[in-house]
Amino acid sequence: MKNKVVIAMAVVNMQWKRIPENIREEILSNVWCSNCQDVVSLTDYQIENNGLGLIISGKCSVCGSEVARVVEKE
Ligand SMILES: [Zn+2]
Repeated sequence: MKNKVVIAMAVVNMQWKRIPENIREEILSNVWCSNCQDVVSLTDYQIENNGLGLIISGKCSVCGSEVARVVEKE
C-alpha cells in the first residue's frame, strides 16, 4: 500500500515536471485566494492527480489560507 502511494506520487511529479518551467511558475503564482479576494502565489504546495488533471493545493503566501488550483489535462 505504501509503495503504491510512492509510485502515484512519482507519476504526478513526472506529469508536473513535464509542464514547462515558466508555465509551472505562472500556475504557482496565479492562484485565486478567496480570503484575500486577490490573485496570490502558492506556498507549501502538494500535487495530486484526480484523473481529470493535477490538483495543486497549498497555502496562500499572503494570508496562509488553504488554496488549490486545478491544472486540466491537455
Ligand atoms: Zn490569502
